[in-house]
Amino acid sequence: MPTPRRIAIDGPAGAGKSTIGALVAERLGYLFLDTGAMYRAVAVLALRKGIHSENEHDLAAVARESRITIGPPTKRDGRAYTVLVGGDDVTWEIRDAAVDRIVSQVARHPQVRDVMVAEQRRLGARGRVVMVGRDIGTVVLPDADLKIFLTASAHERARRRGEELAARGDVRSREDLLHEILRRDQLDSERVVAPLKAAPDAVVIETDGHTVGEALQHVLRVVAERSK
Ligand code: C5P
Repeated sequence: MPTPRRIAIDGPAGAGKSTIGALVAERLGYLFLDTGAMYRAVAVLALRKGIHSENEHDLAAVARESRITIGPPTKRDGRAYTVLVGGDDVTWEIRDAAVDRIVSQVARHPQVRDVMVAEQRRLGARGRVVMVGRDIGTVVLPDADLKIFLTASAHERARRRGEELAARGDVRSREDLLHEILRRDQLDSERVVAPLKAAPDAVVIETDGHTVGEALQHVLRVVAERSK
């Protein structure tokens, strides 16, 4: 079998999807698409334009009208990719605590998701892509060649996020991070449209007690097995 052409990686916040997904894409020479960054870009727009996170109509309108693009890094400042909103670089702004607070409410709306999913499918159709998110294997690319569900305990995920943010000088308390992660897990898992869950045919990988390097090796083994 050839190497899987479309690889879906889903899982909860802080499971290491983006780090591992980017490394897998780099190894294979594939496009990497972090779909969470797209929902975060809509949340940035909501904050900038003062649109309430419950206002589905206006959120969907800005999502449709603002050109959100994710491309190769344009600066060497530790970024894995550059996120532009109407030409404006929001790569770091999408990681702000204010965005963390509202992004799951923004992503809950079916009309917002429709706009995002259409763009994600368009990018997925070209193949040679690693796409990470919450609903890639279940909704966006249900016929992906390989589906992975990466997960870890909430405590472990809060710890990793704390380290990641601290490395960028954004120090937050462990309790705040754990609370934030549990709240997003709940919102993402319990929403009606495209809830966070493993596709029945996903390979579930638990990463508690494993380093990023070990989890990456695990994913690459699965890719290699599927390529035989
Ligand atoms: O992956 P990340 O934590 O950056 O995603 C931010 C939020 O975007 C998630 O908590 C979730 O609410 C939403 N999201 C989603 N579907 C995706 C990717 C992200 O609903 N495919």
